[in-house]
Amino acid sequence: MDLKGKNCLITGGSRGIGKSIALQFAALGANIAITYSRSAEAAQEVVKEAETIGVKAKAFQADATDFNAADDVIQTVVKEWGSLDVLVNNAGITRDNLILRMTEEQWDDVINTNLKSIFNYSKAAAKPMMRNRGGSVINISSVVGISGNAGQCNYAASKAGIIGFTKSYAREFASRNIRANVVAPGYILTEMTGTLNESVLEQINSETPMGRAGNPEEIAATVAFLASDLSSYITGTVVRVDGGMAM
Ligand code: NAD
Repeated sequence: MDLKGKNCLITGGSRGIGKSIALQFAALGANIAITYSRSAEAAQEVVKEAETIGVKAKAFQADATDFNAADDVIQTVVKEWGSLDVLVNNAGITRDNLILRMTEEQWDDVINTNLKSIFNYSKAAAKPMMRNRGGSVINISSVVGISGNAGQCNYAASKAGIIGFTKSYAREFASRNIRANVVAPGYILTEMTGTLNESVLEQINSETPMGRAGNPEEIAATVAFLASDLSSYITGTVVRVDGGMAM
């Protein structure tokens, strides 16, 4: 598998799954641009690490909810590198609460960050990818978008929305050789999940047929396959990477 010479943009690439995707792409020869919301230092470290591998790398501070910023980021990548071949919509947050206690702000923050962001970046990427006569868009959902989860109505709605969005986008652009697919991770060890207590973790492990959490590299490997030409006839799919959790 190789991504040599492909220009790739990963939202939320400063840590966790996004960072792992960015570095795995770089290791496979891709130039990587990442966006981040706050931590410039962490983003610069990813850039440095990728440059050490010998590829081009850039970091943009851009709130994923900002429609115009998404367009600016993509225009800049295309202007500087000549094309955009791969877009990974990874940025995401949780604001968990039972629905009776969930605030309007918790609902809006999650829908805007996890779902509106996908609209922002996928829309901005479409024209450059059409000019490029192809591209691959990979959207990071969650098993929660398939199975639901108490305390995560906002998150589950955003992640299920990503699946419907991606299948529609895949249909709109299939004839243009732009593929769009979803990766739905199960429970993955990152800072997002780092706050869960021992008993919740034990429960998650017991509900996972493989009996363990996944790591970011296991998500990145699947995303890299969907970004590569090895998956050239795959579009509109949802690939669960979840140790069997949602089967
Ligand atoms: P994380 O919290 O470690 O990283 C999230 C990334 O998104 C960070 O780089 C952060 O800067 C970025 N981000 C958040 N809000 C943003 C905004 N408004 N604008 C720009 N960037 C923003 O989380 P993670 O575990 O690496 O999750 C990455 C993706 O995978 C998310 O979409 C998440 O929902 C999904 N996911 C994670 C798990 C898991 O178990 N960790 C499971 C299923 C799905």
